[in-house]
Amino acid sequence: MIKLLANDGIDPVGKQMLEAAGFTVDTTFIPQDELPVKLQAYDAITVRSATKVRKALIDQCPNLKLIGRGGVGVDNIDVEYAKEKGVAVYNTPAASSASVAELVFGHLFTGVRFLQDANRKMPVEGDTKFNDLKKAYAKGIELRGKTIGILGFGRIGRETAKIAYGLGMEVLAFDVHPSVTELELVLGGGVKVNVPVQYTEKDEVIAKSDFISLHVPYSHEPVIGAREFTLMKKGAGLVNCSRGGTVDESALLDALNSGQLAFAGLDVFDNEPTPRAELLQHAKISLTPHIGASTNEAQERIGVELATLIINHFKQLA
Ligand code: NAD
Repeated sequence: MIKLLANDGIDPVGKQMLEAAGFTVDTTFIPQDELPVKLQAYDAITVRSATKVRKALIDQCPNLKLIGRGGVGVDNIDVEYAKEKGVAVYNTPAASSASVAELVFGHLFTGVRFLQDANRKMPVEGDTKFNDLKKAYAKGIELRGKTIGILGFGRIGRETAKIAYGLGMEVLAFDVHPSVTELELVLGGGVKVNVPVQYTEKDEVIAKSDFISLHVPYSHEPVIGAREFTLMKKGAGLVNCSRGGTVDESALLDALNSGQLAFAGLDVFDNEPTPRAELLQHAKISLTPHIGASTNEAQERIGVELATLIINHFKQLA
């Protein structure tokens, strides 16, 4: 009987799959400082971002055969060390891409109709303010027919493009390592359409797009800084659902305050969990607290994908 500790929880569907395959799945949370002793009783552990599986813990648990990460980033796991010690490491990088892409459009629809500001200022005291607000938000724009520039055309960038095509938008893509040349859109009623991907240079994407969405990994240099804001169309919108640090936040505030940028949608920040106050109070910024992957559907896909990977792994060992 293989014993698995799902220390940061696992979706019930994934748990059922593992149990049906004969695993014992324990979802009782064990605090980090108790893991060196208590994890010794398990063959495998799954984590999200909270529990850390570092070298010392791997050394203290010689029975451990597998570490599963529900989600993308494996910063909380010493992956190379685990592999050196013969401990398999799995994550589920694709399971949440569609959820992040939908959040991008949550921010875009919000920005083009001033919803972030309207939500803060409504309900109103009496008709006068209502009518003032009605005027203030009267110059919204539509997404249909506009161009979205996607920087980083990996899993999430591609899902974002698919939604954009579905909305009748033009898509320009930039990726340092472009991979796909075509996207398959699955429309309502199961109708499938193949669309060619239009790649171009980063500066051209930035200059020609009405909206820009970032889907790159973290790097030490921001992908969008003061120079890039000057290249943008006046009145463009920017969405960042990738990682804090990919946009220079001071340059972003300057661009919003000068009117160069009409709005921004931010799910990620330099200083999580305490983003800078100017961002949080800005009338032109739509905000979410790093919830791109946080949908029930994504959590279920993560659980199912992880369960499948774990079951297959132990089948191969048997
Ligand atoms: P991915 O690896 O599938 O795609 C990233 C793409 O970016 C790759 O194709 C890569 O070649 C490209 N790239 C790297 N550096 C670049 C650069 N400087 N300019 C242009 N392209 C560049 O990754 P993904 O799964 O699509 O994730 C994208 C980002 O979204 C990551 O930063 C990830 O951490 C983040 N993410 C956020 C959430 C959230 O909750 N907001 C959830 C999941 C992932």
